[in-house]
Amino acid sequence: SEVATMMDVPVTQIISACMSLGMMVTMNQRLDAETLSIVADEFGYEVEFVTADLEETTEVQPDKPEDLKPRAPIVTVMGHVDHGKTSLLDYVRKENVIAGESGGITQHIGAYGVELEGGQKIAFLDTPGHEAFTAMRARGAQVTDLAIIVIAADDDVMPQTKEAISHAQAAGVPIVFAINKSDLPTANPEKIKEKLAGMNLLVEDWGGKIQSQDISAKTGMGVKELLEKVLLEAEILDLKANPGRLATGTVVEAYLDKGRGYVSTVLVQSGTLRIGDFVLAGKNSGKIKAMHDERGNEIKEAGPSTPVSILGLDGAPQAGDKFKVMLDEREAKDIAAKRTQLQREQSVRTQRHITLDEIGRRIALGDFKELNIILKGDVDGSVEALTDSFQKLSTEEIQVNIIHKGVGAITESDVLLASASDAIIIGFNVRPAGNARQVAEKEEIDIRTYSIIYDAINDLKDAMEGMLSPVM
Ligand code: GDP
Repeated sequence: SEVATMMDVPVTQIISACMSLGMMVTMNQRLDAETLSIVADEFGYEVEFVTADLEETTEVQPDKPEDLKPRAPIVTVMGHVDHGKTSLLDYVRKENVIAGESGGITQHIGAYGVELEGGQKIAFLDTPGHEAFTAMRARGAQVTDLAIIVIAADDDVMPQTKEAISHAQAAGVPIVFAINKSDLPTANPEKIKEKLAGMNLLVEDWGGKIQSQDISAKTGMGVKELLEKVLLEAEILDLKANPGRLATGTVVEAYLDKGRGYVSTVLVQSGTLRIGDFVLAGKNSGKIKAMHDERGNEIKEAGPSTPVSILGLDGAPQAGDKFKVMLDEREAKDIAAKRTQLQREQSVRTQRHITLDEIGRRIALGDFKELNIILKGDVDGSVEALTDSFQKLSTEEIQVNIIHKGVGAITESDVLLASASDAIIIGFNVRPAGNARQVAEKEEIDIRTYSIIYDAINDLKDAMEGMLSPVM
């Protein structure tokens, strides 16, 4: 109805234009960006979108190759609960690996940097687990370069290990395995590697390409070697950034400190952040009054891949919000205010996720080449059978990817992964557990549950064929 008013055409004409695109809509329905463009075009209008993400307000020059300097990898630690993620992060934080400065890190600021004997650096995100990792991705932040996946050698490749692997793979982040608790007499690292091989994840000992290191997060055995392997893997990625520009990066965490005001930890990803810089971070802004590293030292500037805690923002941005230094203080404030307002209006969503009903139309529009599916089932047999059948539905026009599959209920973590990877979730004889349903509603993730294999396959097939024979 709003669009009809703006273009001064009867609302029924808009509705029938949508119908000719295969969409049944009502007067009060909000249309997504593509539909709006197409419909407007039919009436001779062009749509200009004003988004909350006013990235290009400050002129961004592309970096010249000679300005790009190597930067440290940013690493996240993931794995099944109790397999030793926290212990590993604690060990690295406290122990010898830091050249000349053992036991120096006292503050928890959400991320920390370590320097190895050779002078190379690694930045660790200090919130372990794939949930935190994917929650950030769902907010549009891709921070991690590399994932260490911890697996306890006295246990097994567990459901959350598999999840962590899927989450890293869906993000395109290389994995280094840390086979932990090798100090225990019951440890059996070979069994773990064999299990991984069975999942098509061949580690180096097994003739594959994936790095793996037996460690003990308790005694420290193998941790140094693990970090060396992380660096080796990072070298292949050839990570670079330009320290000579205004800083941009991502917020890692933020809180209100009674004495000091809002404290935010940010990870600089490009450029150099300095005291006195004017920063826009999500819906907040402010001039940096002070900066501290993870050792509580005051610092004046922070280059690429450096985590730093900053004082001076006028609020607490959310983890995963991007930040950037702005030349114009007024402009930073205006954008922050505009974002606050847009969020209040809520109905403005910058991203909508795919639904089964929409697949046909999206493929007809030609911008949809890959259908990502997360598949959960009650038993392994049905999950495998469905995986096979779904993959066989791939055509030249569209590739069906099972980005994660597993046995068990649909969890919040599945929903976050779907949100970060624009996937639909299919459950076979399982339902959403805990908060999964609510989060799915908020993130607008399509969850379909089935109890008959044939129905699941047919629904997907119909949805895909819908797109192949457009109803124009
Ligand atoms: P998280 O849930 O993955 O963060 O696991 P934690 O780091 O909390 O570790 C779970 C338990 O395993 C704790 O009781 C740790 O002390 C123990 N643990 C972790 N790493 C090792 C290890 O290398 N050897 C032994 N023996 N115990 C470990």
